[in-house]
Amino acid sequence: MNKDIATPIRTKEILQKHGFSFKKSLGQNFLIDPNILRNIVGHAEVTDQTGVIEIGPGIGALTEHLARSAKKVVAFEIDGRLLPVLEDTLSPYDNIEIINQDILEADLNKVIEEQFEGYDDIVVVANLPYYVTTPIIMKFLLGKVPIRAMVIMMQKEVADRITASPSTKAYGSLSIAVQYYMDAEVSMIVPRTVFVPQPNVESAVLKLTKKEEAPVQVIDEDFLFRVARGSFVQRRKTLLNNLQTSLKDGKAKKQEILQAFKVAEMDPGRRGETLSIEEFGRLANALYPEFK
Ligand code: SAM
Repeated sequence: MNKDIATPIRTKEILQKHGFSFKKSLGQNFLIDPNILRNIVGHAEVTDQTGVIEIGPGIGALTEHLARSAKKVVAFEIDGRLLPVLEDTLSPYDNIEIINQDILEADLNKVIEEQFEGYDDIVVVANLPYYVTTPIIMKFLLGKVPIRAMVIMMQKEVADRITASPSTKAYGSLSIAVQYYMDAEVSMIVPRTVFVPQPNVESAVLKLTKKEEAPVQVIDEDFLFRVARGSFVQRRKTLLNNLQTSLKDGKAKKQEILQAFKVAEMDPGRRGETLSIEEFGRLANALYPEFK
């Protein structure tokens, strides 16, 4: 087996050889601990039948671990300066495709069609650039990209929000949007010391696994998420107050909202943070005819 990229010494050598300087604005914090990488790949349950999408390969630390276990790895890297580095570091592997593109600009379903034709198992594995964690996750979920799971490193605070249960401080519209599609669990907490440069925040690896079935049948998913966002505009306010200011650009009539609560058989004096996803679904369906 080839020498790991992700040791402190090898990483330093690679960076020096290519004269690479980190761009903070691109969330460049590279992993320098092969144990963490092995654990990430393990949590993703990658086999020789798996197609992996990686976001942000950096100098290839995680990419090579994925390539050793997977059938194929397709990695999106926005920073063109890393292409010659990756060509060098990943030269021993023939099952890696690097795409020099902003993941947020990519047509993911098309890429999957082209790169993973005939694959039954596709996962996303990444040490994410923290400045775009949420948009990246939501692009995969809202785009109905056919993946089994996402195993992704992020800021611990964001992982806590995604996995939060009702009536906790971290629970909010992000918890609802992600948990509507995926089962979410924190796989491990990761110290700052395993990155170079070290980030200012604690990190966690989150595992998201696609739910077999949505937790609630809604008329319109986008509308459910709008209602959820609107319900948390001011956490301390009641659902009625928050929805009155957020629906119909603040022009919603109180009576119309109260009528929907009656249909949903729900107390308008509750706070958004107490509602389960199922209850948000019920409320959204009741509000939909008047406020869609
Ligand atoms: N995977 C490497 C590792 O673990 O050492 C690097 C991870 S680093 C946290 C994030 C990587 O994502 C960087 O290589 C950065 O250039 C890249 N990146 C940042 N924004 C991106 C975007 N919008 N699309 C694709 N890659 C991006």
